[in-house]
Amino acid sequence: MPSGQLDFIPAVGTADFSAEQAQWLTLANRLGRERFAPRAATWDREASFPFANYDDLREAGLLALCVPRAFGGAGADFATYCMVGAEIGRFCGATALTYNMHICSTMWTGVLSDGIDMTPAQRDEHQARRELHFARVVRDGAVYAQPFSEGSAAAAGKAPFGTTARKVDGGWVLNGRKIFASLSGAADYYGILCTEDRGDQHPDMRDTLYIAVPGQADGLTVTGDWDPMGMRGTVSRTLLLKDVFVPDHEQLMPRGVYHRAAQTWPAMFFTLSPTYLGIAQAAYDFTVQYLRGEVPGQPPVKRRMYPTKQIAVAQMRIQLETMRSIFWRAIHEARPNPSKDERLRLYAAHYTVMEGANDIARLAIRTCGGQSMLKDLPLERLYRDSRCGALMLPWTAELILDRMGRETLYESGERDE
Ligand SMILES: Cc1cc2nc3c(=O)[nH]c(=O)nc-3n(C[C@H](O)[C@H](O)[C@H](O)COP(=O)(O)OP(=O)(O)OC[C@H]3O[C@@H](n4cnc5c(N)ncnc54)[C@H](O)[C@@H]3O)c2cc1C
Repeated sequence: MPSGQLDFIPAVGTADFSAEQAQWLTLANRLGRERFAPRAATWDREASFPFANYDDLREAGLLALCVPRAFGGAGADFATYCMVGAEIGRFCGATALTYNMHICSTMWTGVLSDGIDMTPAQRDEHQARRELHFARVVRDGAVYAQPFSEGSAAAAGKAPFGTTARKVDGGWVLNGRKIFASLSGAADYYGILCTEDRGDQHPDMRDTLYIAVPGQADGLTVTGDWDPMGMRGTVSRTLLLKDVFVPDHEQLMPRGVYHRAAQTWPAMFFTLSPTYLGIAQAAYDFTVQYLRGEVPGQPPVKRRMYPTKQIAVAQMRIQLETMRSIFWRAIHEARPNPSKDERLRLYAAHYTVMEGANDIARLAIRTCGGQSMLKDLPLERLYRDSRCGALMLPWTAELILDRMGRETLYESGERDE
């Protein structure tokens, strides 16, 4: 077998993988099949965090997948992460979605920051600070969360974050609240987006700060229930920050750089998609197995001979291939300052995956029928998990339509009057 080839079909489909991509995909597939899939029902039933999966990810070196090589990580690029994320999502959506939050924390500070304009002083500051964060991941196996949402227009990218950071001697004092903080109580560090409080009552998005708050910090509490419809293993509860002091070195990016980074690298918001491509693949895999009467532990009843089932499987495959194709193109086009054509395609790819995952899961249940949605089988969990993708800010399915329509019909700065 050539080095870039696999002996299984990954969620992104077969392709000409590099030797390294093939190696990471093989690892993700093996962990997923042997460990994550058998455990997935437990996290879902209990709405508990998949700690055992994280031990496996840590041991396999996957927590440091996107830490640059110069800092001891695997130095995987954006596209490679997206392939691996999809493969993990195929076996446990909650693990893939939370893993995405961690990986993004290493990409924002790593490969992305390298492509963002900074002054020489900012570059030096960033270089020194990220060394500390990367060492925590590589050496200690630390896990970073990414709680941005606040229940205001901030997570949609339309207003400054309400969580504030006030400069004090040697560091920052944070106050505020983050909702839907995946990895609540499980993360070693929470990458908090907040607005610098300059004392002038005029918060400005350009003053956004990105600061790591240690899970054990005084003044940080995890509150609220977590009993959602889907993605239950993400444990996305509420974080309250009350006069939390963090030293300067906890800044994940220099002052003002995050805002520029978010505008320069829109593909970063696409990183939520891989999980859902994986879920779509899982629903498709299950349907084929079920109709062939090959689901382990189930009676070998075949349902494949009915033309309606065959047509439904064909429809699912067409949708899956559409998702894979646009996903593949988007992850390889991802770069700083994409052209307008690339940006619109990126939105289209995100929408196609998020809505497509739920569509495939819906068809899977309709096609496999009543017994297939009993809770001892994974399909009903896949269906519930699949619905959550379109809700993720800043690129909810609705907001994607909003952006695509507006940005197609208006050039930047154009008005009607
Ligand atoms: C399983 C799960 C895990 C999550 N994990 C994280 C996490 O780790 N970190 C994190 O930061 N967030 C996370 N989120 C939160 C997510 O990104 C959204 O912030 C959250 O779903 C928003 O819910 P809401 O009811 O407050 O939305 P609202 O803000 O009330 O919006 C409701 C809908 O209205 C639309 N809308 C919102 N704002 C605007 C606007 N300005 N203009 C027009 N339409 C708008 C959107 O389509 C949106 O879906 C998670 C969510 C889920 C479901």
